Amino acid sequence: MRDCIFCKIISGELPSAKVYENDAVVAFLDIHPVRPGHTLVVPKIHCENLMDCNPEALSAMMEAAQKVARAVVSGTGAEGFNLGVNNGAAAGQVIFHLHLHIIPRSRGDGLALWGQTEYKEGEMVALAEKIKTSL
Ligand code: AMP
Ligand code: ZN
Repeated sequence: MRDCIFCKIISGELPSAKVYENDAVVAFLDIHPVRPGHTLVVPKIHCENLMDCNPEALSAMMEAAQKVARAVVSGTGAEGFNLGVNNGAAAGQVIFHLHLHIIPRSRGDGLALWGQTEYKEGEMVALAEKIKTSL
C-alpha cells in the first residue's frame, strides 16, 4: 500500500534490521525499542490490524512469532518475552499495518506494561454476558 512504512520495508524501499523472512511474513527490529531486541513480526500483505486481516495471514504471523520469539530470547539472553498488538489508535497503534511486538524481558528489568484494577459487585458477570452476546 502506498505511503505505508511497513509496506515500504517489505518491498525493500526502506531499510530495516531484518531478522527473519518467509513467503508470508517479515520480522525486523523496532527502531525505538522498549527493550533492546524488541522485534516486530509483520504480514507481507497489507492489513490495518487484527480485525481486517485474513486467517491465513494471522496464522502465518503467529507461527513466525513463535520461531522469532525463541531467537529473540536466545539472542538477547532474555528470560521471557511479552507478545502484543496495539489494535487501533486508542490502544496506541501508530503504524496501521498489522504487526506483533516481541519484547524480550528479564526479571527485575523494571518494565511495567499495565496496571490492573478491580470490578464492582456483579460488574464482571454482566460484562461477560455483553461480550458473549456480541460474538
Ligand atoms: P504501534 O504503536 O503498535 O503501531 O507500533 C509501531 C512501532 O513501529 C513503534 O514501536 C515504532 O518504534 C516502530 N517503527 C516505526 N517506524 C519504524 C521503522 N522504520 N523501522 C522499525 N520500526 C519502526
Ligand atoms: Zn502496509
